Amino acid sequence: MNNQVFAQVMNTLAERRRQNEREEERRRAEVIAKCPEIGQVMDTRREAVMKSVYSAFALPAEEDLPQKVEAWNARIRQLLVENGYPENYLEPVFQCALCEDTGYVGTGKKQLCTCAKALYAALLEQDGSFKEEETFETFDPRRFPETALDAGGETQRGRMLKFRDYCEKYADSLPHPEKKNLLLYGGSGLGKTFLLRCIHARARQRDIPALCLTANQLIRIARKAIFDRAQEDLDALYETDLLLIDDLGTEPLIPNVTVEELFNLINERQNAGLCTVLSTNLSLTDLQARYTERILSRLLDKRACQVLRFLGKDIR
Ligand SMILES: [Zn+2]
Repeated sequence: MNNQVFAQVMNTLAERRRQNEREEERRRAEVIAKCPEIGQVMDTRREAVMKSVYSAFALPAEEDLPQKVEAWNARIRQLLVENGYPENYLEPVFQCALCEDTGYVGTGKKQLCTCAKALYAALLEQDGSFKEEETFETFDPRRFPETALDAGGETQRGRMLKFRDYCEKYADSLPHPEKKNLLLYGGSGLGKTFLLRCIHARARQRDIPALCLTANQLIRIARKAIFDRAQEDLDALYETDLLLIDDLGTEPLIPNVTVEELFNLINERQNAGLCTVLSTNLSLTDLQARYTERILSRLLDKRACQVLRFLGKDIR
């Protein structure tokens, strides 16, 4: 089992439990606003239970408290139904009835719940682009020609070595590199994806929570979150310390999804101080035409983003 992916499963479940609590709170407020008597019965019930807890050692416990609590509960259920709610509307909320969103089932020796296993598998699948052999250690500069890129005499190999050093330093200073974002752009077959995966591999070696996916997979996950209410996979992309998005520009442009989701993701991750690496074959002009000036200026904010421009001959 991959520890980083497992940690993300547990984070996602913890976030689910927080969501559940917010939903319970929201339901209480909603119901009480509509039917104040429910609020009163809940207050009476809570006071009686608290009093009995505090006085349990000093006074004889109120013997009929359980009967009273059951009567209050019945009254609350009745009022809920009368007001058009299901009678269990104020009971604890959870998505998985087996583990109540704890991720574990069973007493004594605990076992992973099926929902946690499914989450784990989904995260691993998302992470499928990971290849063990693509690391800084296996980077071979000889694959890049010694041809000059410009009049200044910089060669393609020289530039790749510079970029490798930058990316390695970036990966080694995670989760707090000097600049949180990294954009790798330029034509295909120039080593962008390779370096992106090297960063991913190093992050894993250093136990930095990281997710790597293509822009196409990203949009699939966003669409699923919107239309199938499957929010947890998308949440993981907002929360992981390092997110690597390969091949930006090859995903479908779905109205109200692609551009909006990318902006939110980049913006929120930036606000949260999280690190994002993107690679694209598009030029900066094409990027702006596709994603709007708003996204690009947010993404390329000079204080937050390092841009590496790949040039030269396709080596594939
Ligand atoms: Zn479960």
